[in-house]
Amino acid sequence: MPELPEVETTRRGIERHITHKTIDKVCCQRQDLRWPIPFGTIKNNLPGKKIIAISRRGKYLLLNCEVGWLIIHLGMSGSLRVVPMNSKRKLHDHFELFMDSGLVLRLNDPRRFGAVLWEPEDPLAHRLIKLIAPEPLGNQFNRDWLFNKIKRRQASIKPLIMNNEIVAGVGNIYANESLFKAKIHPLLPGEKLTKERCQILVKAIKETLRSAIKCGGSSLKDYVNADGIPGYFQQNYNVYNREKLPCKKCESNIIKKTYFQRATYFCKNCQKIN
Ligand SMILES: [Zn+2]
Repeated sequence: MPELPEVETTRRGIERHITHKTIDKVCCQRQDLRWPIPFGTIKNNLPGKKIIAISRRGKYLLLNCEVGWLIIHLGMSGSLRVVPMNSKRKLHDHFELFMDSGLVLRLNDPRRFGAVLWEPEDPLAHRLIKLIAPEPLGNQFNRDWLFNKIKRRQASIKPLIMNNEIVAGVGNIYANESLFKAKIHPLLPGEKLTKERCQILVKAIKETLRSAIKCGGSSLKDYVNADGIPGYFQQNYNVYNREKLPCKKCESNIIKKTYFQRATYFCKNCQKIN
């Protein structure tokens, strides 16, 4: 599932191909994504308009299109790519923006949990976006923010940091990786984290996301590719997908358990439950 680094990599990958381009035409093969695509409104508004900028808030991509904003979420399995307009559609290509450059931005989403929404005013005030925690790589996401959000929570720290109102854009992979880096057991209740450990965890989350974005940079060329759908970049994880392999710090075997319906990987030795 795309998490914040994959969405940021997507943004960087498509940015120079779509900004300052004029939209000639929009097409929609299927409207029934997580929410129905408001295709009528989009079709009435976008042709002839320029894409001024593409930004990101949490895992939402925001395309400033002069008269309003296209909000795109990749859901569980979505990806965006830029292809020449005469290239054949693939299975699960649901939505397209044709640009005057001769290129098309295509959204592919096999599981259809993604979203394409239209917002005529401020996208940051959109009901899906306004409650998202501060950007995790910005200064507002810091020790005090995290400590105040979790200090009265008995829930385990892993689902807490996967909650977008506490930490933006961290899903299962980066939650596992960040907790390992911070030496925190995934089941530790939020209320047990001291300010000092919140500081360590915030730093671990930032480092984990930064290094994933850096790693994604090497896959940017794949975003203009008529043949392929960009695979989310492969990384060297410390715990994720490493069940029974030796911990990179202490050589104990990495454990995999299903907690909160999600695969949870950790090192029992490095991440003690206290
Ligand atoms: Zn270990």
